[in-house]
Amino acid sequence: MWSFVHIFFLIGFRNRFRVMIEWIWYYITFKGGFRLITGVNRGNDNKQNRQVNRSFIPNLYKSSEGIHMTRRIIYFISLLLLFNSNLIAQSPVLSDGLESLIAEIEEQVIEWRRDIHQHPELGNQEFRTAALVAEHLRSLGIEVETEVAHTGVVGLLKGGKPGPVVLLRADMDGLPVTERVELPFASRVTTVFNGQETGVMHACGHDTHVAILMGVASVLAEARDEIPGTIKFVFQPAEEGPPEGEEGGADLMVKEGVLSNPDVDVAFALHISSKLEVNTISYTPGGTYASADDFRIRVHGEQTHGAYPWNGTDPIVASAHIITALQSIVSREMQLTENAAIVTVGMIRGGLRSNIIPEEVEMLGTIRALDPADRLKLHASIRRIAENTARSFGATAEVTIPVTTAYPVTYNDHDLTDFMVPVLQEVAGADNVHHVKAEMGAEDFSFFAEIVPGFYITLGGRPSDVAEEDAADHHTPDFYIDDSGLILGVRAMAAMALHYMNTHP
Ligand SMILES: [Zn+2]
Ligand SMILES: [Zn+2]
Repeated sequence: MWSFVHIFFLIGFRNRFRVMIEWIWYYITFKGGFRLITGVNRGNDNKQNRQVNRSFIPNLYKSSEGIHMTRRIIYFISLLLLFNSNLIAQSPVLSDGLESLIAEIEEQVIEWRRDIHQHPELGNQEFRTAALVAEHLRSLGIEVETEVAHTGVVGLLKGGKPGPVVLLRADMDGLPVTERVELPFASRVTTVFNGQETGVMHACGHDTHVAILMGVASVLAEARDEIPGTIKFVFQPAEEGPPEGEEGGADLMVKEGVLSNPDVDVAFALHISSKLEVNTISYTPGGTYASADDFRIRVHGEQTHGAYPWNGTDPIVASAHIITALQSIVSREMQLTENAAIVTVGMIRGGLRSNIIPEEVEMLGTIRALDPADRLKLHASIRRIAENTARSFGATAEVTIPVTTAYPVTYNDHDLTDFMVPVLQEVAGADNVHHVKAEMGAEDFSFFAEIVPGFYITLGGRPSDVAEEDAADHHTPDFYIDDSGLILGVRAMAAMALHYMNTHP
């Protein structure tokens, strides 16, 4: 019976984790197995048998006597299967066939990227980009839904075999930045943003994300019969935030049900970087981008003449104490050896004239955390300190968190990260995959990763001959991406999706 179980155990499994378990099993049972196959007793029996009996290995291994030939054959076959399954596990995630499909599409991916770069669109207005994406997905025979969260496009590629649902996300929006880079495909698009004339530019590189995911769709559609599962291609609007007064981005996509029907098991995304060298990838386990919540504190006092402060309650002095006290939250309450955290007051407004103590002071700020529990703690501490400090001056504080912005922590699931790093090392080369520290900026992929396990990586876009400090930052007019790095993005996204599906039946 035991041998049948063992064979069953070996047959169905094709992944490294299971092969590892098989090896452990194999190691535990090896000496008995050796006897089973050869009939040779390797000596030191009494001691071995005692050890074996204490373990959970069945009586079969007690001695080599009376073991039927059939069992020996069964065990021998199981060893062959073990060898075989090991070969499968060591085969590359991207087969030669897929690698050549990816190589074939590189030129097209760069062409798409340059076209999208030349025609950037602001958040919730990605009409041209969405149409380009939808048309491409339809041409591949992928089921397409449009106008998700305003201009979002969702494509569903059902593989030929059953399996999990993997979400791959690309954001599509550009920024109100006037491009200064001299490129044949530089953006000349202009618009009026918040009442001001401005250029529009893909100054965060979301054009590359769209082109990469279009390439991944091409490649995986070609291989669909072999795919064990479903891939949800999510082309998301307004990652940089929707226009004032509108909803949008990943938040709205989630509200509109992008994670269900079919239910998503896991989500992957990448972001190009103008600072990270081309052909490299970086990642951070756990909190990778911070949560971002804005807050407002209104301190109410009692207006009076500046020369007679005792006749009123001064909200300016109370606010000064609140701002100072808020800084003690991070320095005194957060466990900084674990994760960074930030409380910034970015705006303060109160009073009109030197000799009038005003009635009210208003402050606006931002709160950043890398851990969901820290995020809640920061909110509670800001309320406590603001309200109680104001009270100690006879004033009152009205705290609002959030006002308009509330991004969760972009959290890389630890198990998923551990599981995917070897895949990245395989596609990029082990030396080209870097574990890096978290960023205190925010990313709205967090809305997906808050609900399903997510993994978010950074892809290199800095030309090798440019030093990191010379490379222009994101959101600046000189932002530049070397698009020879895009194909690694296609390989990484395809490999992560396939590896997940192949190993999570
Ligand atoms: Zn950005
Ligand atoms: Zn971005």
